[in-house]
Amino acid sequence: MIKFLDLQKVTQLHIDEINEAIQRVINSGWYLQGKEVQTFEEQYAAYIGTQHCIGVGNGLDALRLILRAYIELGIMKEGDEIIVPANTYIASILAISDNHLKPVLVEPDIETLQIDPSKIETAITDKTKAIMIVHLYGRCAYNDSMTDLCKRYGIKLIEDNAQAHGCLHKSKRTGSLGDAAGHSFYPGKNLGALGDAGAVTTNDQALADCIRILGNYGSSQKYVFRYQGFNSRLDEIQAAVLLVKLKHLDNENNTRKAIAKVYLENIHHHNIILPHVDEWDSNVFHIFPILTIQRDNLQQYLSNENIQTLIHYPIPPHKQTCYAVWNGLSFPITEKIHEQELSLPISAVMNKNQASMVAEVINKWG
Ligand SMILES: *Cc1c(COP(=O)(O)O)cnc(C)c1O
Repeated sequence: MIKFLDLQKVTQLHIDEINEAIQRVINSGWYLQGKEVQTFEEQYAAYIGTQHCIGVGNGLDALRLILRAYIELGIMKEGDEIIVPANTYIASILAISDNHLKPVLVEPDIETLQIDPSKIETAITDKTKAIMIVHLYGRCAYNDSMTDLCKRYGIKLIEDNAQAHGCLHKSKRTGSLGDAAGHSFYPGKNLGALGDAGAVTTNDQALADCIRILGNYGSSQKYVFRYQGFNSRLDEIQAAVLLVKLKHLDNENNTRKAIAKVYLENIHHHNIILPHVDEWDSNVFHIFPILTIQRDNLQQYLSNENIQTLIHYPIPPHKQTCYAVWNGLSFPITEKIHEQELSLPISAVMNKNQASMVAEVINKWG
């Protein structure tokens, strides 16, 4: 049986270090807003290449807090528009609508599966305040034209880096390419905690200060409240676990790349489109997405062969009940991806032999 992702094994990879880290926190008697979080924030900011990192409760909160902070700072207001890819995970969009901002959905490019840079400018109106790019499946969605575009229109560039920890654009990491980035450390992500966890990275001091206050009930000084805030904090145990896992992230991403290479070199099937990879540094393969018009048939076939796959994602955001007003809209490229995408097993605990086996089985698919 080849699992899509064996989380027990993922944890087992570094179990001694993780146990030691957790024991250290338990024995310290200090569980929130302590030195584990502070150390993780310093190390993660240094890894991503930003001046600031603020640990928060999860990836959705990271994105919500970025936008809420821009509102508190007077840079955005209710009703303003945020451009976002139509084919993202729902959390990117929830963060926008939760702040009473308006998500403006833009189609992806069918080759990269990322927001189509050539379709962004026509979506900009005088209400647009930011472009939120999502490095979906672990692939860098950024290109240099986006920074120029944002400068020209005086708008922010926000990155959803939930799926792309460690990914590079030229020599800079995703999460340092725009004005602010949200990161998720959900257990299944490339850098995963043992529960919910997230972070914001930015070089903007005012934004960083505001987010830190907002995530702590809106308080910068005990029992004095500047904003109507939230409770969204990274806790000491998760920070200690993340400190262990951060050390191994580049290695684990290299394992994912090795698996991806085996798939790309060995899967040959007239009915399957493999992901295009032009720049190996710019993809950390959170997901290995293939496209096929007989997706459900292939998934069943692989399941019969004891190979687990998943679909990212079966229903696009504009077809979800929670966004009923969009249900009549048409985003053909997005819809095609959601109909045809299948995610092959890929993780730091898979080996190349298993990947070769998966490729062999796929090649025999009728
Ligand atoms: C996982 C994910 C999130 C949300 O992160 P959580 O920690 O689960 O809240 C946001 N955006 C994308 C693209 C994700 O994959």
